[in-house]
Amino acid sequence: MSAPVGEPSRFRHPSQGTGLVPPGPVFEVTSEDGRARAGVLRTAHGEVRTPAFMPVGTKGTVKMLHPDEVRALGAQMILGNTYHLHFRPGDELIAELGGLHRFMGWSGPILTDSGGFQVFSLRDTIARVDDDGVTFRNVYDGAATRFTPELAAAIQRNLGSDVAMCLDQVPAADVTRRRLEEAVRRTTLWAARQAQAPRGDGQLRFGITQGGVDPELRRRSIEEIAELGFDGNAIGGLAIGEDRDTMFETTDWATALLPADRPRYFMGIGDAEGILEVVEAGIDLFDCVLPTRTARTGSALTAEGRLNLRAAAYARDERPLEEGCDCPACERFTRAYIRHLVNQNELLGLRLLSLHNLRFVIGLTAGARDAIERGSFASYKRERLERLTWAAS
Ligand SMILES: [Zn+2]
Repeated sequence: MSAPVGEPSRFRHPSQGTGLVPPGPVFEVTSEDGRARAGVLRTAHGEVRTPAFMPVGTKGTVKMLHPDEVRALGAQMILGNTYHLHFRPGDELIAELGGLHRFMGWSGPILTDSGGFQVFSLRDTIARVDDDGVTFRNVYDGAATRFTPELAAAIQRNLGSDVAMCLDQVPAADVTRRRLEEAVRRTTLWAARQAQAPRGDGQLRFGITQGGVDPELRRRSIEEIAELGFDGNAIGGLAIGEDRDTMFETTDWATALLPADRPRYFMGIGDAEGILEVVEAGIDLFDCVLPTRTARTGSALTAEGRLNLRAAAYARDERPLEEGCDCPACERFTRAYIRHLVNQNELLGLRLLSLHNLRFVIGLTAGARDAIERGSFASYKRERLERLTWAAS
């Protein structure tokens, strides 16, 4: 039931009529500029104007920040994590308390990852992978735990996220081709089972494609996942340590093979160059811990590159982190003050950097969206990259 590739169309909510989801198409492309596109994704908790960067709230919080601050930075949809929330505090407890939105005080859209990435990136904890599922020792108490596609669906149903992801097998970047092929086969098998599992009211479900940078296997995975007719499709298993040029090249042709009438999600990219590259390829959604993680190491993301605020060079610097930035850090505080806070391990320093870094990435993405609507994405991308390279040289 997959939609023909390249043919624009609108498709409707699976649960339309329950009153939980807005009427109209789930996803609509509103402007195109080359292969880059601007669109609207409609969820049970509101609209997401794409391309959109999704801040990561792994354990039910975007680290350091109040949900109102996250919203004020322009974030539309945030991520929650199936793996972590299943173990602490438990998805059944969250369901009992009214679901993840209510639990964490975020009324906007939430996408939950399936746990596949977490299970497979903690390779040492895996005891057994077979066609039925994966057994691993969880990082919280070391108990043997089994994840299956049915359980991934049930956890995400308990969490009540707006978009649930399929459980996938994520192989390492340097895996043998035979193992990569096995991961592709199993990811399809699991996706087909999860497609049959019950989902929450108004909950959308996205498939994940694997295949690394192997042209034949990535293509096969895309065909098989698209065939299952999910509400959206993700490129998984990239940005995990492979060569960066090959990653962009793969994204470039692989994105074009994903159904054009559904949202396309690149899992795990959040640096300025990476965002501009995937948006150019036609990606609509992406997420990354980079902005908040970088903040917690004491660095700021700016149009000219990273600033390490611990450096002595900023001791008397009265400028904001970035001229012209409208975030709560830049509106009031100097680099000198933030350097002082960071060097004294004051939490406010890390909070201010988190606010600024998220605002930077969200602002960059909003700028890309405006440029697509004006038909000037190519020059927007060129100008942003020139500023980055000029500063680095
Ligand atoms: Zn700022």
